[in-house]
Amino acid sequence: MNKEMTERPRAIARRSLSKLTALMTALALTNASLPVHAQQAKGPPVLRDTETEQLLRDYTRPILRVAGLEKQNIQMVIINDSSFNAFVADGRRIFVNYGAIMQSTTPNQLIGVLAHETGHLAGGHLSKFREQLARTQTQLIIAMLLGAGALAAGAARGGSNGASNIGAAAISAPQEIARRSLLSYQRQQEENADRAGVKFLTATHQSAKGMYETFKRFTDESLFSAHGADPYVQSHPMPADRVAALAELAKTSPYWDKKDDPALQMRHDMVRAKISAFMERQDTVYRRYPMSDTSLPARYAHAIATYLHGDLRSALAQIDALIKVEPQNPYFYEVRGQALLEGGHPAEAIAPLRRAIQLSHNAPLIEMLLGQALVASNNKAYTEEAISILRAALAREPEAPLGYMQLAMAYGRKGDYAQADLASAQAAYLRGDNKTARELASRAKTRFAIGTPGWVKADDIVSAKIPDKKN
Ligand SMILES: [Zn+2]
Repeated sequence: MNKEMTERPRAIARRSLSKLTALMTALALTNASLPVHAQQAKGPPVLRDTETEQLLRDYTRPILRVAGLEKQNIQMVIINDSSFNAFVADGRRIFVNYGAIMQSTTPNQLIGVLAHETGHLAGGHLSKFREQLARTQTQLIIAMLLGAGALAAGAARGGSNGASNIGAAAISAPQEIARRSLLSYQRQQEENADRAGVKFLTATHQSAKGMYETFKRFTDESLFSAHGADPYVQSHPMPADRVAALAELAKTSPYWDKKDDPALQMRHDMVRAKISAFMERQDTVYRRYPMSDTSLPARYAHAIATYLHGDLRSALAQIDALIKVEPQNPYFYEVRGQALLEGGHPAEAIAPLRRAIQLSHNAPLIEMLLGQALVASNNKAYTEEAISILRAALAREPEAPLGYMQLAMAYGRKGDYAQADLASAQAAYLRGDNKTARELASRAKTRFAIGTPGWVKADDIVSAKIPDKKN
């Protein structure tokens, strides 16, 4: 278990979660009063995983291209929530609950929903309120959606950007109203987004059947349950006639009967197996993937569940068997490295993680895991390498507190306490712990020569107008 993890917020302090966070690095939210959805969820509000993010990017890229949005560099954010939801809060990010991935049995079902959401984006259905979010930190948006009003309220006071208005709205409006104004659309906009979604799917030679299947399921669901319906249904009204109109339109597409590419279906199944293994109860995992199931996704789920809940030796044997089947799959090496790292064998984790990085073309989140293994191996010979790998990874993934925490440890080992304090301050800042961030940054300032780049960065944190979590 990684020592750094024990200092993380209460919500992710449990042992099994420390393992999860090494893979799915947290953008931790430290607010204690999280409402229903967040309380149900375990762990940090945002899940980070290279394999899942890559799949979602591959799903959205062609859609965004035909929608004329490819240049916007839209980021995929996976929310730690088992209910079905996918939404665009602004023009910068598409949010997807992991529940939406789990509940979509085919890529086409999820792609259909993403196409519909892109329809909202391309149609300019985002209110002014939402557009202001583009300048807001991801974790602040999620805090607001989850109803953690304190963060948003604080931003209203300190806000030097668009966050201020959002914060103000979040305080004055009851949570549910704030959430609705963020997520809900008018009936006409829904129909337009359906039409745009079908158009994007047809232009990319994909079927709109999955979109129809998902929406049809929600229509049936909302007929039978007034309460407890997925948040997606609450924010996207789905009267039967709308879904009927969608079916009629979708069936005119020459691609209506087109099936997902088997390779893409396999990637989808692998990601669902991984999410199940990491996020669901052990008995649920084995109910979804019984031992008698010898498919690759089932074996992936078994290997991860064994490393999380069983013994390392058996897990490694299972992972090695997976590597034999797909020797070029970076994520099998990643999970091997992670299992070793979390199992207390950081030095042995280094080789598989190097291979994972090579095969994934330098995925920054895996580089951070390697940085962690290098630091944890307690071998001074690795210190410089850890620093350069972590810095390179953070340059591409600047919102990852775990990377900064590892960087702080590496600098500490080197005896560079100015850089160590600065990196710790950056980690605290990203976690939303601004009091600690300011204290560490103030101390870092005293260690740097005035006006040097490190001093300037530390000064930025000290003077940032950001809210404290406890006010
Ligand atoms: Zn919609």
